[in-house]
Amino acid sequence: MLPRSIPRLSKVWIPSGGFAVPGIEDAHSKLVRAGFLRQSHAGIFHMLPLGKRVQDKVERLVAKHMEESLAASRVSLSSISSEALWERSGRLQNIAPELFRFPDRKGSAYLLSPTHEEEITNLVAQTVRSYKDLPLRLYQITRKFRDELRPRHGLLRGREFTMKDLYTFDTDLTSALDTYEKVRAAYSRIFNDMKLPVLAAKASSGDMGGDLSHEYHLPSPFGEDSVITCGSCDYTINEEIATTRVAHEICQADHVGVWRAITKDRSTLVNVWYPTRTIRTDTGQVREYTNSDINIYAIKPLVPDLDAAVSDATEFWAAATEGPDATAKRLVNLFDSRLPPSFSGSLKGSASLPMWPDTVKTGASTLHVQCHASSTNGEKPLNFLRIRKGDNCPQCSSGTLNVQKAMELGHTFHLGTRYSQPLGAKISLPPPSSSETKPSTGDSGTSKTVSMQMGCHGIGISRVIGAVAEHLADDKGLNWPVAIAPYTCIVVFAEDNYNDAVEVYKRILNGFGGQDERLDIILDDRQKSLPWKLKDADLIGAPVIVILGREWRIARRVEVQCRRLNINEVIDVNNLPSFIAELHLRL
Ligand SMILES: [Zn+2]
Repeated sequence: MLPRSIPRLSKVWIPSGGFAVPGIEDAHSKLVRAGFLRQSHAGIFHMLPLGKRVQDKVERLVAKHMEESLAASRVSLSSISSEALWERSGRLQNIAPELFRFPDRKGSAYLLSPTHEEEITNLVAQTVRSYKDLPLRLYQITRKFRDELRPRHGLLRGREFTMKDLYTFDTDLTSALDTYEKVRAAYSRIFNDMKLPVLAAKASSGDMGGDLSHEYHLPSPFGEDSVITCGSCDYTINEEIATTRVAHEICQADHVGVWRAITKDRSTLVNVWYPTRTIRTDTGQVREYTNSDINIYAIKPLVPDLDAAVSDATEFWAAATEGPDATAKRLVNLFDSRLPPSFSGSLKGSASLPMWPDTVKTGASTLHVQCHASSTNGEKPLNFLRIRKGDNCPQCSSGTLNVQKAMELGHTFHLGTRYSQPLGAKISLPPPSSSETKPSTGDSGTSKTVSMQMGCHGIGISRVIGAVAEHLADDKGLNWPVAIAPYTCIVVFAEDNYNDAVEVYKRILNGFGGQDERLDIILDDRQKSLPWKLKDADLIGAPVIVILGREWRIARRVEVQCRRLNINEVIDVNNLPSFIAELHLRL
């Protein structure tokens, strides 16, 4: 059945933003110029009709998989949360600088939620009591707020953004891990539907808590994260927790560098000693390293309070060790395992490098000296340098590692009882059957209560839009996958061909059976020249463009363009529906 009215671009508000600025234009500028969105404040955006269409499609696709693959129920939690609740989970202070906080008229402290673990756990704690109510899977697609210090790259790092967050509640660890695997599988289907080559990388749990997590990354030279993959096995991991099987490398004592660091409270000074030049014994390859190769994440486990924002702490050291207000109490020396064993010994007693014996007198205080060097007695080697392409895979015997820049689109966390325990989300377990021994707590026949096993799983809807735009854009404009394109096919024609364009539109639609959800076709009937419309169709990034041009007048044939597949063909109007249908399957 045909829709009652023909979809036409003249009926859609598309404030195009004029010409491209010379030089490299990023995808965010293209989104603004093509009329998808506008910035309202730093890191905060208005979605315009084209952007809203893309967002609606991403949301529908994600929602479909939450419900069909995971039987999750959709909720919409309040955007406003209370500081009191965040105090109870113990997260308020950690995350405070990124929160938008405000008092109500009575002075009670509230915040705009950056995420909803606290609220949903509180909600479930009040309503679910028995193992019979689990598993429970609740998701929402709502706006989140985070006062980023430096919002950048448009939708990729905004201060207000839309996210899908799924929270899972299970009775025990086994069922929680089973749920976790099901979520991972659903994520893989979502990204497949968008035809995106997303990598699922093992990740650190960071502030979230819990002990199992994955990040879902779209490889891109514009990405802010690095994902490490092995060329021979399935090792895929975030740079923060990546390791390498350290190769046999020769480093001479005169090729040693030091990176000076300091803790946030300025009480601990840190020397990270590393080789500046090594020679691999197996390949003879020479590698040079500088301070910019230091891997902060390898140092944090040894010095948890490290101030990662300070790239050279030399000046801070002076302030921390001199004058009556000196704060330094400890000096930590860290030795990369590639350094010759004699190196740490050679520093002992060196006048220029005062770090021995166990205490050091400075201008104002006495420092306690502590050293970390991995020895040969089975300890893990200390590797303070970032993984490089060609390093050995730690998981298989023959593979070497690749380093890929990537943009994070989603994250899955197994949380365990990180939130259910402090917020009191408990369930009663079934009473033990008669064949079992007495329960360990309570009287016989009384059921035991335990904290629920939780998981939380996000997909950044706004991020997906920004990242896909970045990933697929070329110098002509945006370039959407069929699954989330604002329109999958634009019919472009000269002004006097309107009736013919309607005929072509009807033919394509009928060829799709009139109701295929993949096809989302629109006519560009705006009062503009044909070349202007063609340029704009490229900029908007419809996957398929159908043109009624010269060939139409001569032989009623249309031109079909598809930049991503490098297709530009003249097609007889009778063959058009099957041709368009086939393209929609490929994009
Ligand atoms: Zn491997």
